[in-house]
Amino acid sequence: MQNEYLLLTPGPLSTSETVREAMLKDWCTWDDEYNKEIVEVIRRKLVTLATKSAGYTSVLMQGSGTASVEATIGSAIPNDGKLLVVDNGAYGARMAEIADYLNIACEVLAPGETSQPSVQAVEEQLQRDSDITHLAVVHCETTTGILNPINELITIAKRYNKVVILDAMSSFGGITMDIGEMGVDFMISSANKCIQGVPGFGFVIAKQSELEKCSGQARSLSLDLYAQWKCMQDNHGKWRFTSPTHTVRAFYQALLELESEGGIEAREARYTENQRTLVQGMRSLGFTPLLNEELHSPIITSFYSPTHSDYQFKEFYNQLKNLGFVIYPGKVSNADCFRIGNIGEVYPSDIKRLIGAVKKSMYWEIVK
Ligand SMILES: *Cc1c(COP(=O)(O)O)cnc(C)c1O
Repeated sequence: MQNEYLLLTPGPLSTSETVREAMLKDWCTWDDEYNKEIVEVIRRKLVTLATKSAGYTSVLMQGSGTASVEATIGSAIPNDGKLLVVDNGAYGARMAEIADYLNIACEVLAPGETSQPSVQAVEEQLQRDSDITHLAVVHCETTTGILNPINELITIAKRYNKVVILDAMSSFGGITMDIGEMGVDFMISSANKCIQGVPGFGFVIAKQSELEKCSGQARSLSLDLYAQWKCMQDNHGKWRFTSPTHTVRAFYQALLELESEGGIEAREARYTENQRTLVQGMRSLGFTPLLNEELHSPIITSFYSPTHSDYQFKEFYNQLKNLGFVIYPGKVSNADCFRIGNIGEVYPSDIKRLIGAVKKSMYWEIVK
């Protein structure tokens, strides 16, 4: 079954036909065939993709990516702990909102949506407030596509002995990194982003010694990260509650396809080429990216909306969709823009076709 259009969105995204086909079978959650040969293999492969360092483990969690973020924040921070969140977009803001819902003490450092957080400002905050125990930061802030300087931020956090929570939801699998080398304690991502699976669960790759400290700390039964991990660990991949079997099976297939593409490095090269082709093509049509080029990620790019009085996003969107491409509305609060994602089963040749479709869809420039 073919897709009618390409999703140029940051997840759910366009998946391969073979990933979708992997969902055509039903699985029993009690069988070794599922638990040992699918779930456990996924857990091991994820750790291998994330780091060469020993001492890391992984846990899968039902729900969208936010459920895994909420499980991590709600389980990792003790009652007397305090979280510092770096917020330069909707996903940073969401982590602070989660802390607020869960009554976790929280400070927010918000440099604005089009700027990287200053490492110095983070250090000053850590010096000023010794109650802070955890730092949470987003790697690629999907709101704009900005890439945050996580190496520098984590180095500072570690110098002050803070536990680091990294939301690498939209970057893991698409940008090379070694979380062990960086010193990340909890890294969160989900099935339907750069691994190119379908939605239904998220996952956390954690330093096992830190995860073990979460025992008994969760503020929610179903989002107890430690209990979920303990169940999988002790029962060879068994989930605590109903697992999204089809999604998990598709994810396994997606991991095999990531390997045959050549691993994360090769995928990053493809996404980077997609993004470069996109920005060059869009610029040639008169569009301007929201961010300075050095802040761009290979994941998603925001462009200013045309200022022509006839322009309406919905109309532009519909015309592009009719031509086979789905783009994304903007999410920045202080600028009118739209976004185009580069991730998923998308190749530079698709981006070239997209540029042709954008040109055809610029109805506001066509003289009536
Ligand atoms: C997609 C995403 C999430 C999670 O979003 P869900 O809609 O809950 O899957 C969190 N953080 C970032 C940076 C994301 O891109």
